[in-house]
Amino acid sequence: MRIVQYHANDDIRLIDHPAPTAAAGEVVVALRACGICASDVLEWYMRPRAPLFPGHEVVGVVVDTGDGVEALSRGDRVWVHHHAPCGICSLCRRGASTNCPQFRATRLRPGGLAEYFAVPAPIVATSVHRLPDALLDAAATLIEPLACCVRSLRRAGFHPGADVLVVGAGVTGLLHVRLARAWGAERIEVVEVEPSRHAAALRSGADRAMTPGDADALALSVPTVIVTPASTGAISWALERVAPGGTLLQFGPTGPDETLPFQPYRVFFREVTLTSSYSAGVDDGTTALSIIARDPGFCDGLIDRVLPLEEAAEAFRLTATHRESLKMVLTAMAPA
Ligand SMILES: [Zn+2]
Ligand SMILES: [Zn+2]
Repeated sequence: MRIVQYHANDDIRLIDHPAPTAAAGEVVVALRACGICASDVLEWYMRPRAPLFPGHEVVGVVVDTGDGVEALSRGDRVWVHHHAPCGICSLCRRGASTNCPQFRATRLRPGGLAEYFAVPAPIVATSVHRLPDALLDAAATLIEPLACCVRSLRRAGFHPGADVLVVGAGVTGLLHVRLARAWGAERIEVVEVEPSRHAAALRSGADRAMTPGDADALALSVPTVIVTPASTGAISWALERVAPGGTLLQFGPTGPDETLPFQPYRVFFREVTLTSSYSAGVDDGTTALSIIARDPGFCDGLIDRVLPLEEAAEAFRLTATHRESLKMVLTAMAPA
């Protein structure tokens, strides 16, 4: 079979690799579509691990089931989450399931951007879901990014009637806006450096979109602030816009060597909560799936281009140059 191999953002190869087989409890899936994530082109994260097999926003068709798999059959079209927590360790029991050792250890084998991939038994047990026919393959690749936003709003303490500030109007920024709107936000402000992205924020349900230098943006004081760019500059800008008693949530992963000077004084007296959200747990995934299944138009307008697997290098190049602002989906049609 063919699989995408990452060496660097500008060195993406399509290589031959033996197709995986399904061990007990596993399934093998033929890929239909896989989104490329901003994290797939984060060089500080990817390069030390290269060469590696990327791809985690996957939709496909079950082609083989291992011993003991009863809930899935050949021909099922599925969304597969790429990690699964154990559900019983102390981390899982206190809601930190994306830090569960099993969560960190599970992954699609050999990788999601392949004509076929095996899904480990713990993922099969909790995180492989059949898709409704009305939901197209490409749209279903957005279930995973939406699940990350579900976790993010939950961890930020979002509730109906809340006022929210979303920093960044890339794909995950817009998903946050749509989700906050669907969940009954009162007022949604968006701050985005690039004015050309403001219209998409407004179409997604924002009440207002501004650049960070706007006087109105500088005057913001909002209880729930979500920072989607992986940027310390965006975090420190946003920290000054959190209302007393509010929460700032870091959604984009900054690099291990980046530091951020801040005034604990401002955090202390205003009782600001600083938190983060990484990936998505089992419940976040099922919530995201039910949102998109109920409303297949929920993610309309978010995917910029759909290309075949053969054009992976071009898709990575475009994602790397546009970061969060451009969503690419790669498709494959290996025989099911
Ligand atoms: Zn992703
Ligand atoms: Zn666990």
